Amino acid sequence: MADLRFDGRVVVVTGAGAGLGRAYALLFGSRGAKVVVNDLGGGRHGDGSSSKAADSVVDEIKRNGGIAVADYNSVVDGDKVIKTALDNFGRIDVLINNAGILRDKSFVRISDQDWDLVHNVHLKGSFKATQAAFPVFKKQGYGRIVMTSSNSGLYGNFGQANYSAAKMGLVGLASTVAIEGAKSNIHCNVIVPTAASRLTEDILPPDLYAELKPELIAPVVAYLCHESCEENGSIIESAAGWAGKCTIVRAKGNLLRSKISDIVTVENVRDSWEKVTDITGAERLASIQEATGQLMSDLERLSNPT
Ligand code: NAD
Repeated sequence: MADLRFDGRVVVVTGAGAGLGRAYALLFGSRGAKVVVNDLGGGRHGDGSSSKAADSVVDEIKRNGGIAVADYNSVVDGDKVIKTALDNFGRIDVLINNAGILRDKSFVRISDQDWDLVHNVHLKGSFKATQAAFPVFKKQGYGRIVMTSSNSGLYGNFGQANYSAAKMGLVGLASTVAIEGAKSNIHCNVIVPTAASRLTEDILPPDLYAELKPELIAPVVAYLCHESCEENGSIIESAAGWAGKCTIVRAKGNLLRSKISDIVTVENVRDSWEKVTDITGAERLASIQEATGQLMSDLERLSNPT
């Protein structure tokens, strides 16, 4: 089978001056894409700015024979990042929302600033860049978007309440963008990476850190963004040369009353709790309509008890 290439495609990678974003940008650049290397060049906690980070990755792509431009805007001005793509290359096909910072504190010590900065970069930044790219994608009937979540969002992690909330927000954002884009061949998926970078250098054990190369995740993200990839609205976790889909499942649950005229008491809930929380045979619902459909059939069962 032929190699998967991105010739003629314009790819924007936010936060591409280091870590995972750099690995994505280098891979797309080596596969024929024109790459916008966005990076504010700030510190790990969202402080400062510099053109150095983005410039060095642009130089690397060019040295390897690729095409790239730097963009130094904050993703909070995501529309400006997309404008850089349109001004330089006249189009945009792929948007990887990757830029990120940390402001880790135990929950009660999180200040409004810690909350707002993290939400602004991760959630608002992804919203702004995606909203600016979306009409272009719609017009051309093609677009690929990746949001970056985290296991901290999916499962929680001590000291990361602000980050967890923003990262789970991105799952919700991606789910709806995937639905709204589907008929225009716009796909939006979520990557949940674990990789060695300055965000994880003091979190991961050193021997594990050495094995978690961002280059092992980049091909997963690139595949999600290829025109031949049908995936849409999915959460894909990847690390250390492994990838797998994550999903939210719902327990079979239990009716808390016997007929439609009954009320539900707290004791009814207690008596059903084991069944309510038993995830044996849990299923993945494909849509909100499916959830509503099941609700209707539960009401039907209550109205016509056997
Ligand atoms: P990193 O710090 O190496 O890279 C993040 C880049 O984003 C930096 O170069 C930084 O300058 C840039 N950036 C920060 N704020 C920006 C802004 N406002 N505008 C533009 N650029 C900005 O970290 P990384 O580990 O490569 O993280 C990349 C993404 O992956 C982040 O969203 C992070 O939350 C997520 N993530 C990483 C891991 C991991 O194990 N490394 C795990 C889960 C999620």
